[in-house]
Amino acid sequence: HLKFLGKRYESTSAASDASATPPAERYEYQAEVSRLMDLIVNSLYSNKEVFLRELIRHVLICLFSLRFMHDNASDALDKLRFLSVTQPDLLKGAADLDIRIQTDKENGIVTITDTGIGMTQQELVDCLGTIAQSGTAKFLKALKDSKDIGGDNNLIGQFGVGFYSAFLVCDRVVVSTKSPKSDKQYVWEGEANASSYTIREETDPEKLLPRGTRLTLHLKRDDKGFAHPERIQKLVKNYSQFVSFPIYTWQEKG
Ligand code: ADP
Ligand code: MG
Repeated sequence: HLKFLGKRYESTSAASDASATPPAERYEYQAEVSRLMDLIVNSLYSNKEVFLRELIRHVLICLFSLRFMHDNASDALDKLRFLSVTQPDLLKGAADLDIRIQTDKENGIVTITDTGIGMTQQELVDCLGTIAQSGTAKFLKALKDSKDIGGDNNLIGQFGVGFYSAFLVCDRVVVSTKSPKSDKQYVWEGEANASSYTIREETDPEKLLPRGTRLTLHLKRDDKGFAHPERIQKLVKNYSQFVSFPIYTWQEKG
């Protein structure tokens, strides 16, 4: 089995000026990822069998999507906590292990920041451009085996589609991440219905993280309602009982 390293095929740098900002590189998703995203966005999202009523549909989508994002933040913190036992230096810069969820209801944006293990540039390509992990692979297999996607509204819940489930409710997802293994922070950006994503270096000093990952979810127009702090707090209460790190939620001042 060959490891997919992401195919770079185009630079999105606008100009060749001597600007210090490194250009964003564009990468193609592994074919399976494209198929999965297509399925999530087109089949599952519009399937009335799965999401029978509009309201339930929205709630389910958001619950699934946000639950997986919490899981990832929590996993990332677990990994860091484990490694820091033998490598205490990893905690430098940010000793607290926590998750912060911020909502901006005017713009329909939810931001989930963790101080976990983060990702290097190569890990971004490996983790968010390919399907390496078993949950998603199982999900795809189950879908292939099941003739009737719509009839089984448990497939998503059973296997999880992980990170890519964000595209159920988002038309744009930005992941800015800093691994202790790298001096640099990198930004992954993807859009729903796209066959490629970009990675660039984070150069905005305001956006630099001591360590960890900031996920910015740009909600679809119909789903902007989920950027309300009360709804997020409810989700956090219901789905994060088993997260062993503090989760803070707050609201952008209007
Ligand atoms: P899974 O969580 O089942 O492995 P996901 O699609 O949710 O699958 O995530 C894929 C991978 O991306 C994770 O295994 C992890 O390596 C990486 N990842 C996702 N979110 C984060 C995060 N917040 N911090 C660090 N790594 C992450
Ligand atoms: Mg996950």
